[in-house]
Amino acid sequence: MADATTTVAPVPRARVRSMKEYHPPLGSRDAMRLDFNENTLECSPRVRETLAQISAGALTRYPEREPVEAIVAAHLGLRAEQVALTNGVDEAIHVLFETFLEAGDEVLMPVPTYTMYEVYASVTDARVVTVQAADDLQFPFERMMAAITPRTKVIAIANPNSPSGSVATRTQLLELAQRAPQAVLLVDEAYFHFFGETVMDLVGTLPNLVVARTFSKAYGLAGLRLGLLAGPADLMRWVRRVLSPYSVNSLALACLPPALEDTAYLDWYVGEVLAARAEFEAALDAAEVRRWPSRTNFVLVEIGARHGEFVRLMREAGVLVRDRSSDPGCDGRVRITIGTRGQMRQAVTALNSALAMLRAEGRKG
Ligand code: PMP
Repeated sequence: MADATTTVAPVPRARVRSMKEYHPPLGSRDAMRLDFNENTLECSPRVRETLAQISAGALTRYPEREPVEAIVAAHLGLRAEQVALTNGVDEAIHVLFETFLEAGDEVLMPVPTYTMYEVYASVTDARVVTVQAADDLQFPFERMMAAITPRTKVIAIANPNSPSGSVATRTQLLELAQRAPQAVLLVDEAYFHFFGETVMDLVGTLPNLVVARTFSKAYGLAGLRLGLLAGPADLMRWVRRVLSPYSVNSLALACLPPALEDTAYLDWYVGEVLAARAEFEAALDAAEVRRWPSRTNFVLVEIGARHGEFVRLMREAGVLVRDRSSDPGCDGRVRITIGTRGQMRQAVTALNSALAMLRAEGRKG
């Protein structure tokens, strides 16, 4: 029996006690979701049909990852040993870091970037080394190269990056991989479909390159939690030791082949987003809002000191956007996901009236 009066309680590891809490602002999202860079519409109808056909009996079985890994590997032009499916890219990052990082190691990343690299690095005993991007938020290649030390064990690069939307070139990624042969170069291609450029074809030819992809963005399957890591077979076998054999559930596994096959849906959605982005960027320019060039399905904009109020006004107008002010070097900046042209036209109306209100108040003050 537990003694209610005892003062002794289990204490987590020191690293865990010093971790920052991270709570994505997910509450009450019954509005236009331009806040998490998801697909803003729905997944392929073929995936929907597959889900409807899953039998009650099928759910009694443990999920079998390997056959689906072979399908995904073939789709990517790789061998099955080079690909591991994960419970979203978040699990991929977690497992990769747990596999390679120990005390004394360094994890190198440009900032601002995707929050979870730092979260998962801080659970390990490694040290996080960040390289701040300049005001243009372009990939700080020279300073990343200069920050490599013999202790650099992982280099984490989202390409395209979030929240900036900027990209690293293939040559830059190659040079980083070659400069740090002792390190895993993680190239997180979560937004690949909107960018169109990849280093996936180099997997297996560079001994330290690992590429991540997600099904949460263009494919519209964020709720199913599906991601993957692709790397040289002799690195991936260590990753597989750490990865739970059942972390990708059977519904997600069943949906993956139809999602890959329905290229018409994927092409349509990506085309829609790119057209919507061009229109939205023109509207931002017309409204004289500073924006950073984007190669993906979101745009970072400068709102200034009234960023909190802007986000609130947009929400009142039914449009959720994401305040990135607390990201390093992002004070006053807000990230807006690009949805369909119809959605973005509504978003422009909301944006223009929010800006009009802020500017009118600014003149009064
Ligand atoms: N990487 C990047 C760069 C992201 O922006 C995100 C999603 N916000 C993820 C990974 C996470 O992907 P998943 O949903 O597969 O965990």
